[in-house]
Amino acid sequence: MPIASFSTRPGDRRLGKVIGDQIIDLSQAAPELPRTVKDFLLAGADALECFERISLETAKPIALSDVRLHAPLPDPEKFLGIGMNYADHSAEVEKFGLHKPDYQKWFNKQVSCIVGPFDDIVAPAVSDQLDYEVELAVVIGKSCRNVDRSSARAMIGGYMIVNDVSVRDWQFRTNTVTLGKSFDTHGPTGPWLMLAHEVDDPLSLNLRTFVNGDLRQDGNTCNLIHDIYDQIAYLSQVMTLKPGDILATGTPAGVGMAFDPPRYLKPGDVVRLEIDGLGHLENRLVNG
Ligand code: MG
Repeated sequence: MPIASFSTRPGDRRLGKVIGDQIIDLSQAAPELPRTVKDFLLAGADALECFERISLETAKPIALSDVRLHAPLPDPEKFLGIGMNYADHSAEVEKFGLHKPDYQKWFNKQVSCIVGPFDDIVAPAVSDQLDYEVELAVVIGKSCRNVDRSSARAMIGGYMIVNDVSVRDWQFRTNTVTLGKSFDTHGPTGPWLMLAHEVDDPLSLNLRTFVNGDLRQDGNTCNLIHDIYDQIAYLSQVMTLKPGDILATGTPAGVGMAFDPPRYLKPGDVVRLEIDGLGHLENRLVNG
């Protein structure tokens, strides 16, 4: 079952265990557990065992419709994204002179862009080239450095959905792409953290984007060019990955910039992202 950050009144964030359309308040059901998802990951096997024992028989749930869900990890040390990592997406942007990279192409999303699964996305006043990217987010569960591919899966704490919202003109002004990927509110994540052992095969997940109900992206993680295990192995040659770090693992074809003419997001639009088994994000575009 997933672990979620939620509140029933402003300023009172709690951790919850999601069971169907209900959520159990862990501060009531298991007060000994940590109070944030990052601390829960840091606490390791003992916390996980305690979490697994909590059930509807042992604790009183709240209806999910009565709570507000927040970003599971609002303050990771690292929030990294990989570019051009699905062959179909790589092909659709080739007309812009973007060629499939020889190496894994990583960039920073600043952690200050993170918002919750149903929060508003602010359309910046300085651009009208606002785009969506549905991605599987891998959340690191164990501190690791120099892990090989065969050990990489054991380093994963769980999975979420991320919208790697991108401001295209700002993205392509510089090679680092950081500014175009890092506007405030341009990192919706969630709706909760699905714990790693709950996902049978993260390399076989359908992922979809709808804009105002219109299907725009429809991919599967089996088509990743560099899969998530290669990503962890590659990054960990450079830096220590730590519990709570978020990796946005690439987006499939169907981004707004690839349409002719481009179909960028505008205020009033509703973007819905889905990944099989992980739930959905739904964010409304508002004026900045
Ligand atoms: Mg992306």
